[in-house]
Amino acid sequence: TAAVVAIDGPAGTGKSTVAARLAARIGAHMLDTGAMYRAATLAVLRAGVDTESDAVGPLVDDAAIRLTVGDGETVVFLNGEDVSGEIRTDAVTSAVSAVSANPQVRTKLVELQRSHAVDAFLVVEGRDIGTVVFPDAELKVFLTATPEARAERRHRQNLAAGRESILSEVLDSVNRRDHLDSTRAVSPLRAADDAVVVDTSDMTLEQVLDRLAELVAE
Ligand code: C5P
Repeated sequence: TAAVVAIDGPAGTGKSTVAARLAARIGAHMLDTGAMYRAATLAVLRAGVDTESDAVGPLVDDAAIRLTVGDGETVVFLNGEDVSGEIRTDAVTSAVSAVSANPQVRTKLVELQRSHAVDAFLVVEGRDIGTVVFPDAELKVFLTATPEARAERRHRQNLAAGRESILSEVLDSVNRRDHLDSTRAVSPLRAADDAVVVDTSDMTLEQVLDRLAELVAE
């Protein structure tokens, strides 16, 4: 049997860092589902196919997407190639909401996500984990923060990773992606009815971790 902690929320709430650190603290593994949608998007971009095209579903269906699930950095493979760096580029970030609105893409990736949860203790982070992928998760957390706080975090992450970054552009991109993710027809971003909502705007990473560890222990 599997035990799942679901962490959902918009971009820039610190979800990935929180999920990785929480997993390490409670002896679980972490699964970054956004990385899967990013790998699918890279496959579409590489094929030169329009993100809205009917070809997207079959193309992603044929792509081999594989992720390491562990307590360190997530390594992502597309058709056997390590694409962990390339999936974080602006080109992928700009196109990922369109590709992840495709029902066929979601069906494939949700199945892949569930396949990781056999006999595992997992912290899974994404947008629809508590609502769709693991509706029976032990604990569901929905992380939020103001758009400004989220843009500021993404901006600092970009700079730390040596990527070019302009704060106002990051804010626009965060707002645009959240709008697309929360208004799409399939599995829109929203908190599950039984999720604990945690606003991280004025919390440090350590405070968020303490709060989540407390919730896990309850
Ligand atoms: O979390 P991350 O920013 O890497 O997610 C990238 C994109 O993947 C999101 O903006 C969203 O469009 C999509 N996504 C999704 N469902 C998930 C995880 C990510 O639609 N469970």
